[in-house]
Amino acid sequence: MMQVASREPSTLATHPCPSCTGGRDQVRMQLDFLPDFSPEMQLVRCLACGTERINPRPHAAALAEQYDEDYYREGYLPFEEQRRADFRLRLAELERLPAVQRARQEQRAPRCLDIGAGVGLFALEALACGWQVTAVEPSSAARDLASRRWDLELAADWPAPEQVFDVVTFWDVLGHVEEPGAMLEAAGLRLQRGGSLVMKIPNFRSTWHRSRTWMSGRRRANLLHAPTVIWRFHRQGAMRLLARHGFVLAGARTLREPDLIPLTPRWRAVRVVTDLLDGLLDNRQEMVLHARQR
Ligand SMILES: [Zn+2]
Repeated sequence: MMQVASREPSTLATHPCPSCTGGRDQVRMQLDFLPDFSPEMQLVRCLACGTERINPRPHAAALAEQYDEDYYREGYLPFEEQRRADFRLRLAELERLPAVQRARQEQRAPRCLDIGAGVGLFALEALACGWQVTAVEPSSAARDLASRRWDLELAADWPAPEQVFDVVTFWDVLGHVEEPGAMLEAAGLRLQRGGSLVMKIPNFRSTWHRSRTWMSGRRRANLLHAPTVIWRFHRQGAMRLLARHGFVLAGARTLREPDLIPLTPRWRAVRVVTDLLDGLLDNRQEMVLHARQR
């Protein structure tokens, strides 16, 4: 469960936009409806690139406390089958990447570095598909769960830079980390020449996300994943972030994921409309970006 991280303004920290040199911000929302956190926290948007962030926000140590066993037990284990099915679809897409096809032609296992592995559901699926996987997860609660449930060993830290990979994956990770740019550079150091960086991020500008956020009143906190999602990248901001840290975008598309929790009739009706709009505009609720090094 959410723990009390901060009621004291002095424990909050401010950060500039990670995607660009930053500039003026626009306040999008006062996060005073998060009961356990300081009412000073705001969701702001960088007017230069559109990336949104929580600013000010709790310090790193307070955020790290959020990733306890309950976080994974409640958010991952009940939806294990759906999440694994989604990862099988993502793996089928990864098979089309040039570096992966080359590995298959050479009759060796493609090598993947999965950062922010959670309880290891992607790693489990990738291993089952014949990949060689190094999965890194900083939360000891998540690593313990993976070890107990599936006998899966996740690493606490990044591998040495001498170890190279065909693909580095960030599945719904970049919005959660303190230093997304440093993460991308660390990934770049470990990519084989011609390798790919693949990341999935929520598309908070989808009609679906916007409808849910604005129609949900005080329950918005759950939908915003605040305060654990500290950055909300949109296509342009993500491209700038990649460019600043040595990558060029090779492909981007949006996708709709199945609903993890059954929707009420009211929300099902909203979903029909937003699916139509988001499908037409390629503005679905999740975005997958493929990038290669410059
Ligand atoms: Zn910016």
